[in-house]
Amino acid sequence: MKLLLLGGTGEARSLAQELSRSGVHVVSSLAGRTTDARLPVGEVRHGGFGGVEGLIDWLRDNAVDALVDATHPFAATMTSHAAAAARELDLPFLVLRRPGWTATKGDIWHWVDSPDAAARLLPDVGSRAFLTIGRQGLHEFAGVGVWMLARCVDPPEPVPTWCELILDRGPYDVPGELSVLREHDIDVLVTKDSGGPQTSAKLVAARQLGVPVIVIRRPPLPAGVQAVESATEVLAWVRVHVD
Ligand code: NAP
Repeated sequence: MKLLLLGGTGEARSLAQELSRSGVHVVSSLAGRTTDARLPVGEVRHGGFGGVEGLIDWLRDNAVDALVDATHPFAATMTSHAAAAARELDLPFLVLRRPGWTATKGDIWHWVDSPDAAARLLPDVGSRAFLTIGRQGLHEFAGVGVWMLARCVDPPEPVPTWCELILDRGPYDVPGELSVLREHDIDVLVTKDSGGPQTSAKLVAARQLGVPVIVIRRPPLPAGVQAVESATEVLAWVRVHVD
């Protein structure tokens, strides 16, 4: 079986390894935006496909038997293109999505639907903000009248002049996040609901310091798409389709 795995996440990297071990021919696809991206094992392709039509052509030209989307929960355009291409080709299609975060005792969370809504709410919640939403959507915060610190993996283009910037790709831990919050006197954290343990230390740090968090909700999955939360479930699904 030849499977196209849409990646750009830690889950996709581990999944590529597990699928290869099970004898599946996996081609991992990366958008190619992050410098020094950690590469998965096996065959890797880089860059966009050129929309739904480009993806359909690529899947046909490369005789792909199944498509798995393990992109980030906020990579909604890629997921919707993948769903449309799979529908058009009648190709088995599965989405791997890590569960979102849920608040626990001590958390002060404000849920919003978009970066724009987070920016509008921000001045009502705090005056020194830590933005951990990546590069996309950062421009929505320009002109919001509070002091801001933004953390990104790669520098945004253009580099914003209206906030301070930390370039860091993690891994992040609670002591490290506590020092960022304390050092910059942060009184509000802004995050996307990325889910997973890799970037959740900031939430623990915010809880410990009583710092409120503005959480941006995930975009919904395209209608009718089958989604699972673990690599084990993907492997079981692949086995069914190989049989
Ligand atoms: P997006 O907005 O959903 O996608 C925009 C375009 O980028 C897509 O239409 C596609 O171009 C190309 N693309 C995206 N993912 C691709 C992939 N895995 N392989 C080939 N082309 C891809 O995506 P995004 O939010 O910019 O994220 C880009 C990549 O970074 C994703 O792979 C995602 O897993 C990863 N990532 C995203 C975030 C985030 O917060 N959004 C965080 C961590 C990692 P064409 O239309 O030309 O095919």
